[in-house]
Amino acid sequence: MSTTTAARKAITSDYARYSALAEKACKFLSASPDPFHAVHNCISQLKREGFVGLSANEPLMGKLKAGGKYYYTVEHSTLVAFCVGPAFEASKPFGFHLVGGHTDSPNLKVKPRSQKSHPASGTIQLGVECYGGGLWHTWFDRDLSISGRVMIKSPESPLVQQKLVNLEDPIARISTLAIHLQSAEERKGFAVNKENHTAPVIATDRIMSKENKDAGNVLQEGVQEQVYGSEWREGQEPLLLEAIASKLQVPVEHIIDFELNLYDTQAAQLGGMKKEFLYSARLDNLATVFASLEAITQYSKELPAASSDISMMVAFDHEEVGSTSAQGAGSPVMLDAIQRISSALQGSTTSPDLYNACIRKSFVLSIDQAHAIHPNYASKHEAKHSPKLNAGVVIKTNSNQRYATNGLTGFVVRELGRQADIPIQEFVVRNDCPCGSTIGPTISSLTGIRVVDAGMPQLSMHSVREVMGIADLQNGIDLFLSFFNNFRTLDDNMSKEIEGTTAYD
Ligand SMILES: [Zn+2]
Repeated sequence: MSTTTAARKAITSDYARYSALAEKACKFLSASPDPFHAVHNCISQLKREGFVGLSANEPLMGKLKAGGKYYYTVEHSTLVAFCVGPAFEASKPFGFHLVGGHTDSPNLKVKPRSQKSHPASGTIQLGVECYGGGLWHTWFDRDLSISGRVMIKSPESPLVQQKLVNLEDPIARISTLAIHLQSAEERKGFAVNKENHTAPVIATDRIMSKENKDAGNVLQEGVQEQVYGSEWREGQEPLLLEAIASKLQVPVEHIIDFELNLYDTQAAQLGGMKKEFLYSARLDNLATVFASLEAITQYSKELPAASSDISMMVAFDHEEVGSTSAQGAGSPVMLDAIQRISSALQGSTTSPDLYNACIRKSFVLSIDQAHAIHPNYASKHEAKHSPKLNAGVVIKTNSNQRYATNGLTGFVVRELGRQADIPIQEFVVRNDCPCGSTIGPTISSLTGIRVVDAGMPQLSMHSVREVMGIADLQNGIDLFLSFFNNFRTLDDNMSKEIEGTTAYD
């Protein structure tokens, strides 16, 4: 049997399992158009599985116990979820077994002052800012909507509420320029000016009723200056405020701030002749968030009685812009989680010495989507490190530390894969090509924990519409489960010493 036939048979035999999982992933991806919704949807699933919500604003001391499972968020866009092994003992070193990913994706964010009209064209637009390194040309001619978080306050109450909002309807569009209006030079390549070309059109000024115009004018002229937040609202597009107010069933005057992004309304779906692909926005990196959530919830259903370690998933915001924020991987979030959970569980037995022994027993799978080889651009991959779709989880190595993998941590993934019968692939970027990076090097340098970088292969990374194989989603979950179940024994069997002789002995 040729290898191609073997690969085809492999995916066909398990197809029902893969497709059921991928259909569930489609629902999660479509319902998570921004980090706030992604974290919210994770929490829904964690709650259904009996995880207990903690407040990061209060001490964890006295709230954790062996066999317990918990979660908390940082600023509602970063999530920490963990299970304490039933055999946990406070006086003995234990390890954190952590799968890390990120909740954010490149997108267009609504500017702090969203109002942007273009009288000459009779159109009403929205001011937007490019977030992260998107393939911005892919955002053109898509049916876009808006989601995120909104701050609400009524003038009568000091209470400021945060609410999720998702307008759902296609209410915005960034149109390409017709080819007939392009010069010969412009036709050679589609170059996006991020400031001049990305503002979407949301209405024409003709469609606005007199009432709408009046309402807009009232806001613009600051007649309602006595109402809390009116100064901020004056800079906002009235149609946007009205749509949010209508969706949230609150008066426009109660909206005092927001953090919104555009997204493509086309739902995630299975595709390809045999429906073996997952077509979706934000696979980088919500595919990881979904897979790690599935793994930790499945693992938590029956925690192994002998486990004395902490199994954990963390999904960070702001990876796409360098992780330096209060809730990014470059923040104290990771170290705080480890220190707070350790001291809450160890109580009076806690000590810096014990803590550092725990760090040495810990391990992080830094999981981010990987680049599959593209058939039309195959020369972009180095021949021996060219991962394929639906062919397994990819270990990413870069000796210049753009990825945190080393010989030992890469071996751990290969071995975990071997034990659970999960195919593993390898990726190293060509020497003449720049390399991306992940949260891996950031976490390893901040915590001192051993880290490997790996991920599921995909195409079209950072496009508004990406693609991955459905078998790889299952491969990811299986690898994370193998990690939670098998890492401790594997690590205990690996010598911590190095042997050998040299000419200097
Ligand atoms: Zn990513």
